[in-house]
Amino acid sequence: MVWKFVKIIIGSSLLFVFGSAFYFFYSQQSHALVIDMNTVYEKKNIVPVLVIGSGCAGYSAALYAARGKMIIIVFVGGQPGGQLSRTTKVENWPGLLDQLGPDIMQKLQKQAESFGAEIVYDTVKEVDGTQWPYKITTHNGTTLYALTIIIATGASPTMLDIPGEEKYLGKGVTTCAICDAPFHKGSDVVVVGGGDSAAEEAMQVAPYAKNVTILVRKDAMRASAAMQDHIKAVKNIKVVYTTEVTEILGDDDGVTGVVLYNTVTKQTSTMPVTGVFLAIGHTPNTEIFKKFLEVDASGYIATKGKSQETSMPGVFAAGDVEDKVYRQAGVAAGSGIRAGLDALAFLRAHGFNEMVEKRIQQNLFNPHQAATASSPHGASLVQIQNKEEFDTLRAQKSVVVADFYTQFCPGCHHMMPAYEAAARDFAQKATFVKVDAEAVPELAEAHSISSVPTILLFKNGELIDRRTAILSQEELVAFVQQAM
Ligand code: NDP
Repeated sequence: MVWKFVKIIIGSSLLFVFGSAFYFFYSQQSHALVIDMNTVYEKKNIVPVLVIGSGCAGYSAALYAARGKMIIIVFVGGQPGGQLSRTTKVENWPGLLDQLGPDIMQKLQKQAESFGAEIVYDTVKEVDGTQWPYKITTHNGTTLYALTIIIATGASPTMLDIPGEEKYLGKGVTTCAICDAPFHKGSDVVVVGGGDSAAEEAMQVAPYAKNVTILVRKDAMRASAAMQDHIKAVKNIKVVYTTEVTEILGDDDGVTGVVLYNTVTKQTSTMPVTGVFLAIGHTPNTEIFKKFLEVDASGYIATKGKSQETSMPGVFAAGDVEDKVYRQAGVAAGSGIRAGLDALAFLRAHGFNEMVEKRIQQNLFNPHQAATASSPHGASLVQIQNKEEFDTLRAQKSVVVADFYTQFCPGCHHMMPAYEAAARDFAQKATFVKVDAEAVPELAEAHSISSVPTILLFKNGELIDRRTAILSQEELVAFVQQAM
């Protein structure tokens, strides 16, 4: 018995010693990166400043770094233009009265481009933090080496994690009112949440829906007084307090209702609705960085003092991915500016100068070359004007791929270059079409489109698969391959 006990103690101690040694070794490895400009010359596809993310923080960082005459590449990521591109009116951007969020983002992008920043419609899939320059792999299959990285990946909508949510995501459950509001004309919908986003989403869907009910779990909204005043002025918006959604109900066509629980009366009820707009906050997009960067308990990237420096040399973070306190567009832009300046200072401090730039000129990453290399043929996208045209095409062509989008859906615009590239990959073998779901509503209705982007795949006139998501070129190719 005693011997057994001693064996357990020895076993656990050894485990602890080896575990600690492994952890120490690993952490030393990841922090002992050698930043030596001489190693840069051996690499191909070099990027001096790589910005990941295209919200206020990303474009502001790109603007400042580009103005410092540095070579900047911005990977726009899954939500081009960030959260501001999904809002409508913005009243609190300093110096501007009543601007539209997408307009601000377009101007910011143009401004960064005018100083030389290159915008690439691709998403970073992996960052290797064990070597410098940092090795980056993208969704569309590009590999490049970054001397500095500015992480501005923002935050993604948090989900409720209740029955029915995943099943009906894209079929009535949505996190993008500006994209999906047009699919709820004359219907009753709910918005879940009590913050500024919930108020904003309710105002975006109110012009389309018959009744909009904001479901707030506490007895008060967290939204600013100004936003609460705005929703009070809209006749078809109602706020219901102390109410939680416990289940989302539906059938083959999508959402039919929600099950509600009143936390005061302890009563459960059912409410018939066609749409559930989620606005319950955001979670920072740090998944691919966590294994080599320090993040806090909630997943936000830790930055040092008044700089945007992270725990890794030459890696900076800006905006909602590192700010859990303010989470305002203006603050994100400010931190992006700091990150841009920090990246410039880092490069200079480590000997990056005109001579180095000249020497690596031939080895710099060229996004235009990458695009043509991956898709050498011409694209043939047909813009569908009416249902008859689509039905005729479907009857005539053996494989038809249809991308349903709306004009104000940032994710749809983001996917377009990948969609065009997939169309080039399947030239002669499949017909790729684009359908503006708002402009051809009868076609959207006929195929039960309630969220965009939705991609349908037809073989010999029959629907064989559909996806409601922003797909990379790789994913699109695998999706279409099913019909070959
Ligand atoms: P917030 O974190 O401010 O609000 C989230 C809301 O969702 C809260 O009311 C919270 O309730 C509620 N919530 C969280 N989890 C659940 C759940 N499981 N079930 C039901 N309700 C839940 O996030 P926002 O996205 O609204 O705003 C983020 C930041 O962006 C804020 O700083 C905001 O000011 C800013 N913003 C500004 C805008 C503008 O000025 N035009 C527009 C949009 C956002 P509870 O209060 O009980 O925690």
